[in-house]
Amino acid sequence: MNVDPDWSVARVAVTTLMIRAGVRLPVEIATWEGGLANACLWGFGARRCIAVSWGLLAILGTAELCAIVAHELGHYCLRHQRRLALHVGAQASALVAGLAMLTTGSELAFIAFIASGLIGFYYHRLVLDMDFQADAWACKFCDPRDLKSALHKIAVANGCAPPRRRIAELGL
Ligand SMILES: [Zn+2]
Repeated sequence: MNVDPDWSVARVAVTTLMIRAGVRLPVEIATWEGGLANACLWGFGARRCIAVSWGLLAILGTAELCAIVAHELGHYCLRHQRRLALHVGAQASALVAGLAMLTTGSELAFIAFIASGLIGFYYHRLVLDMDFQADAWACKFCDPRDLKSALHKIAVANGCAPPRRRIAELGL
């Protein structure tokens, strides 16, 4: 690992980043399933925090870690959790409406099912758009090259292909 066990060096940098960005959230270090290198915005309301895995701390330098934390802060400031919840709620509502119409023999049921399917189809597009937006937000407070190298390292550590569209969007 290239980070001290209580990540005190990176913690100072992350705190400095949050002060610059004008937004403070607790950072929780977590053990991720399968040792994945990952970070996410976690929880709702006053209990929200940024969860960072030990696997992530092990592979990223301080500036790269700050870039990833800035990305998660971007999701928070741009209210992406709420948009995602609305999207999933709309899909579930259309599905339930379709099932209810089906039981009453309504011919409109198929329209509700199509609506549910379309909303589900656009879920991945929405997630990608939100990542583009969070990256752009993060780049106001970090060097895009640090975000790029962090995305590469995370992909390699997790055995995934690098997120080429996100990296391309960084314009490097
Ligand atoms: Zn994201």
